[in-house]
Amino acid sequence: MATADASQTGLVWFKRDLRLTDNPALHAAVRSGRPLILLYIRDDDRAISLSPGRASDWWLHQSLDALTSQLGRAGGDLILRSGKAEAVISEICRDYDVAEVFWNQSELPWIDDRDRAIAHTLVDQKIKPRVFRSSILLDHARVLTKSETPFKVFSAFWRAASRDFSPADPLPAPDHLSTLDGVASDRLADWSLCPENPNWASAFPEHWTPGEDGARARLKLFLDAAVNRYAEHRDRPDIDGTSRLSAHLAFGEISPRLVWHALSTALEAGASQEQVDKYRAELGWREFAYYLFHHFGDLRRKNFNPAFDAFPWREDAEALRRWRFGQTGIPMVDAGMRQLYGSGWMHNRVRMITGSYLVKHLGLHWKDGMAWFEDTLVDADPVVNAVSWQWVAGSGADAAPYFRIFNPVSQGEKFDPAGDYVRNWVSEINRLPKASIHQPWMAPPLTAIEAGLRLGETYPEPLIDLKEGRQRALDSYAIAKETHAAKKV
Ligand code: FAD
Repeated sequence: MATADASQTGLVWFKRDLRLTDNPALHAAVRSGRPLILLYIRDDDRAISLSPGRASDWWLHQSLDALTSQLGRAGGDLILRSGKAEAVISEICRDYDVAEVFWNQSELPWIDDRDRAIAHTLVDQKIKPRVFRSSILLDHARVLTKSETPFKVFSAFWRAASRDFSPADPLPAPDHLSTLDGVASDRLADWSLCPENPNWASAFPEHWTPGEDGARARLKLFLDAAVNRYAEHRDRPDIDGTSRLSAHLAFGEISPRLVWHALSTALEAGASQEQVDKYRAELGWREFAYYLFHHFGDLRRKNFNPAFDAFPWREDAEALRRWRFGQTGIPMVDAGMRQLYGSGWMHNRVRMITGSYLVKHLGLHWKDGMAWFEDTLVDADPVVNAVSWQWVAGSGADAAPYFRIFNPVSQGEKFDPAGDYVRNWVSEINRLPKASIHQPWMAPPLTAIEAGLRLGETYPEPLIDLKEGRQRALDSYAIAKETHAAKKV
């Protein structure tokens, strides 16, 4: 379907939508009938980059590689450019007679603000910006309480948002792309997105297949089996019971709408409504994070609950280092941190346990945890990560009260009952029996000898006594509460 001035070029600007299926910007560009330039821009500035850390850089490299192949199969080329988006877009528009620029909003407020400015400049140049939404399910401006205020509690938010929610059908992938020849592109390898010397991501390919095909395969695997035990298994890090779609969603290799529809199809094929609802509610938590940013501003920087502004956070570089690299002497924490560093991902329950240990037992700022996760998670999502860290710290919306402090030993015994998860990631103690696996310091001497454990030599002594850490956390909270109350008077 060609438009009147279809000889002029259309520019498709990929961001967190590295896919062909259900990509509204790409779909509209193809329908315009214009010859297209398909563009991805890399900005070295982390604050504005679409891969917020080094592990997500690794993912981005693989994902762009996959996208290049996929576009190639449909006859299109992906053009890579680095630099400031404003400058790159303006240069391409000038050099290639661009009439329309198509993109999907990133839904990261600071990037969308920049992109609004770019849209204004384009309009001034008589070029049409065509902006779409596809990274989230809901229009967050419209989900409000009866008194037209934003929700602050997840359950009420999700009840209102998901009631009668029925998203439109996903758009098909274009089967043919007609792209302009001769547009200069960077070489992906020159962007140095993958680590070398040391290559700490060497095991990542065992765990992940970035790209749209990988995302679809992961979804199929989940729907074929795990979905029907999701509610029971989702908290068990020793069981492969979740979808592991988070990085695919973060990079937009699959749209949440497509996932939603696939779940409806699974329901028609006999999947359990209760299980599907539970899974959809997790997608709802993702929505809630974006919702909170939309209504309450930059929660990467400020506490949602201002009472935490007075919290006496500690600084302890050695404790932070031992937490980061899984050397705290608390098996469940160390297993999680090593899973994160070794595979680029950590199970949700263990994110909560390791996070709680950092902010409560160690008393370190949630921003320290947020920053490390952002650097090491392949699914690092600046919005979801910040909201989740605030939830763990107790400063966030709908967070558990601060005085509820996870005990990493009992959490381990409950959610990794045989200790298999710990054994898999903490090899120094993998010969300990179930009774001591979550608290090696309590192992009877003979058991420790048989397991080859010499505490303080083969595996660290606990960095902090858990009871002491808990008490210190409660004392700090009392100080924060008093200071906040005094300020209000
Ligand atoms: P599934 O259980 O299969 O869930 C399906 C999808 O729902 C996920 O892919 C994800 O998109 C969404 N989801 C699930 N749980 C949550 C949640 N609690 N909050 C928001 N969305 C959720 N998730 C990220 O995508 N990026 C992050 O940077 C991130 N940082 C986190 C930091 C902390 C401290 C905590 C406690 C959680 C964080 N999460 C983050 C949320 C959650 O841990 C991951 O989304 C989940 O573990 C991904 O695994 P999955 O795809 O198998 O999840």
